[in-house]
Amino acid sequence: MTAAGEAHGLFMQLTGVEPTGLWSAPGRVNLIGEHTDYNDGFVFPFAIDHRTYVALGRRSDGRIRVTSTFDPDAVEIGIDELDDVFPERRDEIAEWARYPLGVAWALLRATGATGVTGVDLAIASDVPVGAGLSSSAAIEGATAAALDDVWGLGLDRVALAQAGRTAENEAVGAPTGIMDQMASMLGRADAGIFLDCRSLEADVVDLGFAAAGLELLVMDTGVKHAHSTGGYGERRAACERGAEIMGVPALRDLAVADLPRAEELMDDVTFRRVRHVVTEDQRVLDAVQTLRAEGPRAIGALLDASHVSMRDDFEISVPELDLAVDTARAAGAIGARMTGGGFGGAAIALVDHGHVASVTAAVETAFADAGFAAPHIFTVHPSDGARRDG
Ligand code: ADP
Ligand code: MG
Repeated sequence: MTAAGEAHGLFMQLTGVEPTGLWSAPGRVNLIGEHTDYNDGFVFPFAIDHRTYVALGRRSDGRIRVTSTFDPDAVEIGIDELDDVFPERRDEIAEWARYPLGVAWALLRATGATGVTGVDLAIASDVPVGAGLSSSAAIEGATAAALDDVWGLGLDRVALAQAGRTAENEAVGAPTGIMDQMASMLGRADAGIFLDCRSLEADVVDLGFAAAGLELLVMDTGVKHAHSTGGYGERRAACERGAEIMGVPALRDLAVADLPRAEELMDDVTFRRVRHVVTEDQRVLDAVQTLRAEGPRAIGALLDASHVSMRDDFEISVPELDLAVDTARAAGAIGARMTGGGFGGAAIALVDHGHVASVTAAVETAFADAGFAAPHIFTVHPSDGARRDG
């Protein structure tokens, strides 16, 4: 069954009546721009054709109940109790339920709306969880779009993205940027979202993959990412240190031409962390410009360079990601890089439509030969952002 059908079925099972409507929001993949978001820099993700669906119906008692195919137990709370629970007592709520309930809380806090109708939400998804495709932004986006409509809040897409981020940061407790939510909200078929993480200005940029006969392969290594632990925190701290040494508010304020001076002023590790972020910001700008001027085939070298920078300067790759990237390239990919926060997760490869099967087979064989667990390899297509589906 489709995820949309599952959400509908789950709602019927929960309430015995038809839902008021069905809303959805996509996951995303980051084409280029890694660890630049919290440095106030640039990212270039796109929304994918894997979505999370929310079937929603009104109830008359001022309560909110959420249920998901993830967990047979529904979670229910009075809407006026959300403020008591979040953020201090969030541990009392099942972790998955903090995403949709956190969005409800964030929306009400942002708007000051009171007396809104009670709601039942049934959630189902075909976004793989923990593969670096942001199933979290998808559940936040679908919930935000649904509640905004039914509660008549009239928020714009950026405000809905911000509510998702607030939910994730404060109600769930995951210290993430806003890239994922913006991509999930603003996505468009065959286009990417070029986002300035400082101003939150977003440009929808045509990718032209389909017209060029290109596919974007996701190669999920299945290796677990450990975002919240040591490595991620160490990288953030190094970036802050680097900016402080250079006397700028954020690494975004440095240009490639500043790097020789940075190298003189800081230790080798800090310098390499800084060099990754500064050159990655430039690669995002170059990728957008190259796409506009020459089309998608011309961005392969930038994807490759991004991977090398993450592997050697930021040191967040793992052998599985390097093998996926190197093998895909050797098998004919136009460009490839690890994507997401690092320490596992997925890599992406831009490949000719006719090479999808051979690149996939080459990576699978290389993993088997290396004794790694079989990767999960599939194509994703740039798709529309959050919307009402029915
Ligand atoms: P990802 O990289 O997929 O975003 P995260 O750890 O950020 O990984 O978010 C995954 C978490 O989001 C899940 O563990 C779960 O708590 C929640 N989540 C995502 N999709 C759903 C869903 N369909 N139903 C319930 N919870 C979900
Ligand atoms: Mg996430």
